[in-house]
Amino acid sequence: PTAVRLRGVTKVYDNGTVALGPLDLDIRKGEFVSLLGSSGCGKSTALRLIAGLIAPSAGTLDVAAQSSGHAIGFVFQEPTLMPWSTIRENVRLPLKLAHMPDAQSSARVNEVLAQVGLTEFAGAYPRELSGGMKMRASLARALVTEPDILLMDEPFAALDEITRFRLNNDLLALWRELGKTVIFVTHSVFESVYLSQRVVVMTSRPGRVSAECRIVSAEP
Ligand code: ADP
Ligand code: ADP
Repeated sequence: PTAVRLRGVTKVYDNGTVALGPLDLDIRKGEFVSLLGSSGCGKSTALRLIAGLIAPSAGTLDVAAQSSGHAIGFVFQEPTLMPWSTIRENVRLPLKLAHMPDAQSSARVNEVLAQVGLTEFAGAYPRELSGGMKMRASLARALVTEPDILLMDEPFAALDEITRFRLNNDLLALWRELGKTVIFVTHSVFESVYLSQRVVVMTSRPGRVSAECRIVSAEP
C-alpha cells in the first residue's frame, strides 16, 4: 500500500520563488525514506506539502494519512517546546487539543516517554534538558497521537555528532518497533544512508529528483 504519492507536484510561493517541482514520488506504507539535498532544493517545501501545511501550485498529491484523518507527526530542527510546561505536559498537548481527558492521556504519555527514553525527565522543564533530550521530547510529542506518518525536517542537524549518532540508533530501533512511515529530510549523506531504506536525492534545480538509491540490506 502507498502512503504518499506525488505526481507533477510543483510549489511556487507567493513571492514567485519556484521552490519545488515538478516532483513525482511514491512512498510505501512503513517505508523509511530520506530526502537528501543541499539547502534550498525544496526538501522542507516537500515535507510541508505532504503534511498539508501548504497547498501545491500544480500537480496531485495523495497522502493516505490526510484523507483518512489520521494525524501526521512533524519534528522540526528547533524543538519548539513550551518553556513554562514540563516535558510531560508538552508531550500531552496534542492529546489535550484532541480533547482527550487527562486520566486517559496519562497512560499514553507515559508509554511514549518510555519509548523515547525520557521517563526520568517527565517532570523536568525544557530548559533543564540537553539538546538531544529536547529532541526526544519533540519526537515524543509528534508520536503521542499515533500518527501514520512521521515527517522529520533536519531534526538532528544542530546536535553534536555523538548525540546525533545515539538518536539515529534510537530512531531506527523505534521505527523497527512501530513500523511507521518515516520521511526524513537531511543534508547528511551518512545519516541518510545509515537510516533509510531509500534515499531520494534532490538537486537545487527546482524540484528535480536527480537520483534514487535503494539501500540493500542483509536484514529482511
Ligand atoms: P530546503 O528545505 O531544501 O532547504 P526549502 O523548501 O526550504 O528548501 O526552500 C526551497 C526554496 O524556496 C528556497 O529557494 C527558499 O528560499 C524558498 N522558500 C522557502 N520557503 C519560502 C516561503 N515561505 N516563501 C518564499 N520562498 C520560500
Ligand atoms: P532548512 O529547510 O534549510 O532548514 P528553511 O526551510 O527554514 O531551512 O529555509 C530554507 C530557505 O528558505 C532559507 O534560505 C530561508 O531564508 C528561506 N525562507 C524560509 N522562509 C521564507 C519566507 N517566508 N520567504 C522567503 N524565504 C524564506
